[in-house]
Amino acid sequence: KETSTKENNVAKIKVVVRKRPLNKKELARKEDDVVTVYENALTVHEPKLKVDLTAYVEKHEFCFDAVLDEHVTNDEVYRVTVEPIIPTIFQRTKATCFAYGQTGSGKTFTMQPLPLRAADDLVRLLHQPVYRNQRFKLWLSFFEIYGGKLFDLLSERKKLCMREDGRQQVCIVGLQEFEVSDVQIVKEFIERGNGARSTGSTGANEESSRSHAILQLAVKKHSEVKDSRRNNDVNDYRSGKVVGKISFIDLAGSERGADTTDNDRQTRIEGAEINKSLLALKECIRALDNDQIHIPFRGSKLTEVLRDSFVGNSRTVMISCISPNAGSCEHTLNTLRYADRVK
Ligand code: ADP
Ligand code: MG
Repeated sequence: KETSTKENNVAKIKVVVRKRPLNKKELARKEDDVVTVYENALTVHEPKLKVDLTAYVEKHEFCFDAVLDEHVTNDEVYRVTVEPIIPTIFQRTKATCFAYGQTGSGKTFTMQPLPLRAADDLVRLLHQPVYRNQRFKLWLSFFEIYGGKLFDLLSERKKLCMREDGRQQVCIVGLQEFEVSDVQIVKEFIERGNGARSTGSTGANEESSRSHAILQLAVKKHSEVKDSRRNNDVNDYRSGKVVGKISFIDLAGSERGADTTDNDRQTRIEGAEINKSLLALKECIRALDNDQIHIPFRGSKLTEVLRDSFVGNSRTVMISCISPNAGSCEHTLNTLRYADRVK
């Protein structure tokens, strides 16, 4: 399939797969690694049984823009996925980088360092002579979509609501944005926000796997009129005009979308919401790739929030995270099929 290439030679949609290594538990159980990576392709060897119970292996092959094996570092992930997009942020691009996959496949591991590196590069660009006189500033916000509702991860999980301003701009009322001028502060915000993610009473991965975490870095152009009446670091969403932005989205565990028949009512409701948002996301990315005028962003809260990233000059990177162990084979194949549909 032909990839649409726009200015800067940066593909409009890029689909990357990342395989994590076998973990201690999987090694202790002597589980097979069923995923083999060759350049930008991979094969999944699915263990199966015939009706007479003899074992055989079914092979599934997939090809993507890039496939990163278990030896690839987070630095290299950044280089392949986000780095090429960074300069376009100053040219009115709205970019989105998603991590998709089952719980435990490495989404958070992959996603966490990316905004840090992106902020580092963006801040460096802000200080370049070409941009220095433009009054550009970098702003950060971090929120969560849980059960179809929005919560500010940098403001005591304050509940937020969304509004459209009639110019295809989404406005999340009350969302705190912080000006960031150095990377250390970005690091602190990321840690604070991740600490505030839904963890429920059991802690661990359990509850955060049911939410989408969205960290946005926006480059804004500020007018001559000083915003000095305002607080130093806390600012109104409207002050300054967004030039471009990049959103980092750690999606809910893809297997959670199947929790629609669970005995627990709350789990069922959340499962249905997750299922809806992951389907809507796929439809929106496909519509983008086909240069469709109509983007079906109304399909879910997630895609509504991302509305302004689905119009105009947009860039999308999907990082599909997969587990290598035989026991995860079915989820891995589901993840790869989803990624394949997006491609
Ligand atoms: P998810 O967010 O998809 O539920 P995590 O990012 O929490 O998954 O990863 C699950 C576990 O696997 C974590 O302990 C994480 O440190 C580890 N892990 C994930 N990806 C890698 C990787 N590429 N290399 C080493 N460890 C990894
Ligand atoms: Mg996670």
